[in-house]
Amino acid sequence: MNALNVFIVIIVIISVFLTMPSVKGKIGEAKVAFLLERLDKNTYIVFNDLLVPKANGKTTQIDHVVISVYGIFVIETKNYKGWIFGNEKNKYWTQQIYQRKERFYNPVWQNFGHIKSLETILGEFSNSIYSIVTFSGKATLKKISVSSPYVHIINSIQVVKTIKNYQKKVLSNSDVQNVVNHLNNLGNNKESAKRHVKQIKETQKQIKNKVKSNICPRCGGGLVQRKGKYGSFAGCSNFPKCRFVSS
Ligand SMILES: [Zn+2]
Repeated sequence: MNALNVFIVIIVIISVFLTMPSVKGKIGEAKVAFLLERLDKNTYIVFNDLLVPKANGKTTQIDHVVISVYGIFVIETKNYKGWIFGNEKNKYWTQQIYQRKERFYNPVWQNFGHIKSLETILGEFSNSIYSIVTFSGKATLKKISVSSPYVHIINSIQVVKTIKNYQKKVLSNSDVQNVVNHLNNLGNNKESAKRHVKQIKETQKQIKNKVKSNICPRCGGGLVQRKGKYGSFAGCSNFPKCRFVSS
């Protein structure tokens, strides 16, 4: 083979490689990770490619998690182009490129699964989690029907803006540190992740037992029954110094 042929073969190999779904996915993730770098590092902590154990013992991979006092953002990246159609209620969404249509699993449901797995780990912080699905800039979001205000379907370029739109503090600084510690402890392999979840379940059992005996698991104070918007709950008697509430 002469040099030109070798060159052509290399180009073909590279272009086939770049169009492989798994490689395309990684490129999309890298783009969003790059965009998330723009967030102020003192306020937002970013985890990319997080391995999280599921209830069934398997593990799931979350593209990005951003943690701040303004909430926990769970991001699923779709490096798709073309027209995207989707409804929150349907199992499959549609990608259309000219006349060709392909269906893919509802990314809102997919990300909801990721959030469920995270909730197991984060327990009491789980009501501060928001869902974001990003599509590459080459995608046109046509008819997307999502009714939950805490679910965002966006082009990846809008990811920082979408996160920064949340300006209400829902977590304390120590909550944020707690969440970050949990995610750091997952480590980067399945065994360490599973071990960590086992520990968490053990801790949650102990918390439940304390709550049952009306003891605040955070400060050791007493718990009192309170009435809230969504019914009664047990809160710490040391409020506002301690903000523990049973979930
Ligand atoms: Zn307390």
